[in-house]
Amino acid sequence: MAERIECAVIGAGVVGLAVARRLAMSGREVVLLEAESAFGTHTSSRNSEVIHAGIYYPTGSLKARLCVAGRQALYRYCAGHDVGHRRIGKIIVACDESELAGLGKYKDQAAINGVDDLQVLTAGALAGLEPEVRGVAGVLSPSTGIVDSHGLMLAYLGDAESRGAALALGSPVVSGRVEAAGIVLATGGAESAEIRCDVVVNSAGFNAQAVARTIAGIPRQSIPPTHYAIGHYYTLAGAAPFKRLIYPVARPDWLGVHVTVDLGGQVKFGPDIGWIDRVDYRFDESREAAFYEAIRRYYPGLRDGALRPGYTGIRPKIHGPGEPAPDFLIQGSREHGVPGLVNLYGIESPGLTASLAIADYVETLLAR
Ligand SMILES: Cc1cc2nc3c(=O)[nH]c(=O)nc-3n(C[C@H](O)[C@H](O)[C@H](O)COP(=O)(O)OP(=O)(O)OC[C@H]3O[C@@H](n4cnc5c(N)ncnc54)[C@H](O)[C@@H]3O)c2cc1C
Repeated sequence: MAERIECAVIGAGVVGLAVARRLAMSGREVVLLEAESAFGTHTSSRNSEVIHAGIYYPTGSLKARLCVAGRQALYRYCAGHDVGHRRIGKIIVACDESELAGLGKYKDQAAINGVDDLQVLTAGALAGLEPEVRGVAGVLSPSTGIVDSHGLMLAYLGDAESRGAALALGSPVVSGRVEAAGIVLATGGAESAEIRCDVVVNSAGFNAQAVARTIAGIPRQSIPPTHYAIGHYYTLAGAAPFKRLIYPVARPDWLGVHVTVDLGGQVKFGPDIGWIDRVDYRFDESREAAFYEAIRRYYPGLRDGALRPGYTGIRPKIHGPGEPAPDFLIQGSREHGVPGLVNLYGIESPGLTASLAIADYVETLLAR
């Protein structure tokens, strides 16, 4: 007979960990089911580690609301839990006159989203702050920062475990069914098991759609399509030429090849975007020339040979190339009709920043 457990969270990335923490802190019994032998080995450890301010996202979207709320909560959380982070700020650069209109829109959209600290920079002010960066104007976002994503996940896990949550590694959810007396999940791995849950939160990242499809009783039409968009990062040899994060004006489908600096001072450029048809983290070194070209638009001092292949990450997309970017798709029973189930789809950027706010939102959906 299936063991009874109040809540199962599927997937121990930063979002699943935040949700498990939230539910455990509300006094619920929680088991966190993770397919891999360690937590956070997929998207949550293959990203830019940027605490986003919340500038770009459409008015009223979950991305806008949860990014702004999540960013504020994240700074408080990191400060209170000794998680490495720095509010180093970011500059978005217009490389030429044609990008000035795009730059202008950011301040307005940011203000609508509740980000009211952007400062417009002239070319002279930009050069004063970041002498290595070339541009005709810029916008400074002082509340953008960086975070140690592994330290953050460890802290979420510590909170969850101290409230009684259990992390089951090597426990992939392989199937399930919705019954009147709860949702039954079957796990594979070395010790396969069946558990019956009142609450299931499917936070399996780019696998969330596949997991949902294995659970009989979830309406198929509620499950969005699965798309993957890979991003490559190159690292810079030598000392950091920038003090802040540097971003070009964004394109419709991604933020452009930008500069991030990690807490150890390592400069990274990326991610680019390429649509792929399966999960494959291999680094495609033929992208190097395109990186030099994109970076030299705002950093002309980039020397030949200074870029080193870094790593890749895969965005869990629910839309295909050329389609408008949708919002986070977070479904409760009102959306799919299954009591006690929350599915999280398309949790791409700013999912790391928004993780605490996503967890609060999931709890609200469960209480609804
Ligand atoms: C290139 C890139 C750059 C990014 N940069 C930023 C940034 O700078 N700032 C920001 O805020 N956000 C950023 N993001 C977004 C952020 O990284 C993600 O939103 C976040 O990591 C998603 O976390 P997650 O827990 O939903 O997914 P994941 O980290 O992918 O975790 C899902 C987990 O589910 C597990 N799993 C899968 N299938 C099963 C199963 N059947 N059973 C059990 N477990 C399963 C996986 O093993 C995995 O551990 C970026 C994303 C990418 C790809």
